[in-house]
Amino acid sequence: MSDDHKHDHDHGHGSELSEMQLRVRALETILTEKGYVDPAALDSIIETYETKVGPHIGAQVVARAWVDPGFRKALLADASKAIAQIGLQQKVGDHLIAVENTPTTHNMIVCTLCSCYPWDLLGLPPVWYKSAPYRSRTVKEPRKVLADFGVTLPDETKVRVWDSTAETRFIVLPMRPAGTQDWPEDKLASLVTRDSMIGTGFPKAANEVSA
Ligand code: FE
Repeated sequence: MSDDHKHDHDHGHGSELSEMQLRVRALETILTEKGYVDPAALDSIIETYETKVGPHIGAQVVARAWVDPGFRKALLADASKAIAQIGLQQKVGDHLIAVENTPTTHNMIVCTLCSCYPWDLLGLPPVWYKSAPYRSRTVKEPRKVLADFGVTLPDETKVRVWDSTAETRFIVLPMRPAGTQDWPEDKLASLVTRDSMIGTGFPKAANEVSA
């Protein structure tokens, strides 16, 4: 009786883990027991994405594009190739496309089907990126989604939404903030937020980072 009662509650009641986390754990256990995966290797992959790969890599790419017109051109022509050539990342997906924000066009990235994301450049995707509302509303009402993120654009700015796939990922090249003409690349990189590279935010303003 008490077991039945428990089961009537939402999954995860009495556990810190969500249903998805429980499923992942179960799958990992089976694969490990059958000898298909080495748990140490899994841990190291996860640790890499948690600690080593993160938005700071994408931020370096953006900062380089801001200071180096040749790199900017190469990045917009073939982002995977341009990034591999400067040695920031060996492999950036099969096909990475950089889309540039301008005063007339603002770009936003979504994966309507699941949660494809440029992991190599931005690390782990934020939870909202994987959420059903973000995935469906971004296509239908991008300006309203932007407003939820506190982003308002001039009426004349066009919003373009890019739908990622397993093969093709996107990164937004945001506009360089005003008042940063003489800034070195690493200081510029400190202005580049993760959300500005997804299109749900802007880079920080020059006065938001310390000298
Ligand atoms: Fe996806």
